Amino acid sequence: MTRAEILAIGDELVHGHALDTNSTWIARELEALGIEVLRHTVVSDLPGELEEAIRSSCARADLVVATGGLGPTEDDRTRGVAAAAAEVQLVFDERVWQQIKDLFAHRDRSPPESNRLQAWRPETAEVLPNRWGTAPGFAMTIGGAEFIALPGVPREMRKIVEASVIPRVRERFAATCAFSFFNLHVIGPHEAELGQILKDLMASDLNPRVGVTAHKGQLTVRIVGRGESEDAARVAAEKVVAEIRPRIAGFLVREGDKDLVAAVGHELICRGITLAAAESCTGGKFASRLTDVEGISQVFLGSWVTYSNEAKTRDLGVPEELITRFGAVSEEVAAAMAAGAAERSGARMAVSVTGIAGPGGGSVDKPVGLVCFGLHLDGVTDTWQRRFTNIGRRWVRERSVLELMAAIHRRFEGDG
Ligand code: AMP
Ligand code: MG
Repeated sequence: MTRAEILAIGDELVHGHALDTNSTWIARELEALGIEVLRHTVVSDLPGELEEAIRSSCARADLVVATGGLGPTEDDRTRGVAAAAAEVQLVFDERVWQQIKDLFAHRDRSPPESNRLQAWRPETAEVLPNRWGTAPGFAMTIGGAEFIALPGVPREMRKIVEASVIPRVRERFAATCAFSFFNLHVIGPHEAELGQILKDLMASDLNPRVGVTAHKGQLTVRIVGRGESEDAARVAAEKVVAEIRPRIAGFLVREGDKDLVAAVGHELICRGITLAAAESCTGGKFASRLTDVEGISQVFLGSWVTYSNEAKTRDLGVPEELITRFGAVSEEVAAAMAAGAAERSGARMAVSVTGIAGPGGGSVDKPVGLVCFGLHLDGVTDTWQRRFTNIGRRWVRERSVLELMAAIHRRFEGDG
């Protein structure tokens, strides 16, 4: 089985001033090719550190993909250090220099002398052209491993991966295994609880591998099957997916690549259902998450952030007496908020949320974590309430947003 490693190069990364997003992107691309990535290294631009990192990755792995350190400045040392690690010379590549000059000519300029640095390459390296910027990548053998160096600029890196690296890796590292992926999106338990439910399936030597990731209150169980063919990988994964489903039945909100928020946005857009929101304790978080979805402007009309009682009455027409009688955190008020948002926006669907996020403001009757919801569709308003575990204000608010997303999603289930 091909053993791959990824090397992210740059002082800004190790010092914590920039986030290494290239490695995660590359890892997913390699995984899709059936190549397992076993290690990521982040290393500074210092020549000694860099050379040690390149040598050791190349000693362990069959394939090493590196990004960064190919710019035109003195601190961009990947070319020279890779040459040193392979014990070969650097040579000036006239064709690369011509390509750089062409790129500048395109913008009616000539390249500064410093760009000449980017036309040097290790003698034994093959250039991976960069039509999107000045730093070409290269591929060579170091210590028995295939070493691929790419620029750090994410856009250029991705283009070169698509144009040159994927075909090259496919050709040289015939997939010895295939992967099959399943994602089960879950809301409700916290990560540790879910881990407990799935504990016996998460041992590292099992096939499929089962992992849990958390993102803004939403948990995803990722099941990765391996096999000699895609079918074999899928069969391995499906067996365990079938075992997991009943264990998380109460929490499972969706299956598939798209996460819940993206799926809800997509469903609204596809069905052309207009939506408005009335938010109290989430303070606009619902709208913020939903507007992460591209194209949502076609259906999402807006959200009222009505934090005070006065705002609920003034902006949504919630009767004052309803608030006095039942309290701002009540299903009655949630219903009036949703109906008010639908009426005032003209949307077909409207959701509402009002709750006690804490840490203060709770009582025996209405503890921190109590949140009331409304969902209005075509003139009919449903309400419900939840008592979320009080593990912090942020959790209660994020959970509330996901509760609404899940409620909308359920509305679409069963109608194709
Ligand atoms: P370099 O090729 O080292 O000159 O990198 C050029 C730019 O790409 C840097 O200034 C960073 O903003 C970005 N960059 C470098 N490495 C990474 C990485 N691993 N992940 C995301 N961005 C990066
Ligand atoms: Mg750099």
